[in-house]
Amino acid sequence: MNNRVHQGHFARKRFGQNFLHDDYIIESIVAAIQPNKDQALVEIGPGLAALTIPVSKLVDHLTVIEIDRDLAERLKQNPLLTDKLTIIEQDALNYDFNILATELGKPLRVFGNLPYNISTPLMFHLFEFANIITDMHFMLQKEVVTRLVAAPNSKDYGRLSVMAQYYCQIIPVLEVPPSAFKPAPKVDSAVVKLIPYKQKPYLVNDVKILSRLTTEAFNQRRKTIRNSLSNMFSVEQLIELDIDPTLRAENLTVQQYCQLANAWK
Ligand code: SAM
Repeated sequence: MNNRVHQGHFARKRFGQNFLHDDYIIESIVAAIQPNKDQALVEIGPGLAALTIPVSKLVDHLTVIEIDRDLAERLKQNPLLTDKLTIIEQDALNYDFNILATELGKPLRVFGNLPYNISTPLMFHLFEFANIITDMHFMLQKEVVTRLVAAPNSKDYGRLSVMAQYYCQIIPVLEVPPSAFKPAPKVDSAVVKLIPYKQKPYLVNDVKILSRLTTEAFNQRRKTIRNSLSNMFSVEQLIELDIDPTLRAENLTVQQYCQLANAWK
């Protein structure tokens, strides 16, 4: 049985629980994060503390956000973590990270082996707090990392690529096989580092428009933008902006999406 009891805990599929148990991978992730004493580290989904314990040894204090009450209770009881941990028992998807940055009085360093079922919406949620985040290290499905770094003119290039690359510099760190987890997921995984730009390469006046634009374009990615973006731009407007109306969503660069977002009225 795949999701068998682990340290007395039964892995919950609905919370995307695949626990890391490979020491080499765990050490490599912690080495990539390079936690430092006075920094505000925040872990999403600490689970059975595979990353939490080694990171906590390197910092004075650590905040974790865990949705599973049973796991939160275990963390509270863990003698290795006493005094070091603030546990937020909440859905990270709804959490207002501004509260934490204000409380701690410093920018956040976020990390986690993310539940794969919510990793993309969670990253979109975190992008909204990009200005109070120094960096993020995430374990994701390898396919999601491929999409994060994808360049235009490829099938992997989509809304996630545009939005992530608008907000962050993205650095793949490490590939991780299914055997590093219990239970083992069906897919390969990878760790990625996202560094929100202090000064973005392309400025957008209203990011909501960029968000809408990329949704409309990539929801109909096979159509030419003259059709998929017809609710927002006429063919004449596209030509005026020097953007070929016969291109498809995947042919436009991040810069061109930003240019379009700023031109929309
Ligand atoms: N960090 C542990 C590890 O590496 O072994 C566990 C990783 S497991 C893939 C994902 C963790 O995120 C689980 O502990 C799960 O309960 C938690 N989780 C799932 N959905 C969550 C949510 N919406 N908000 C906060 N934590 C969540």
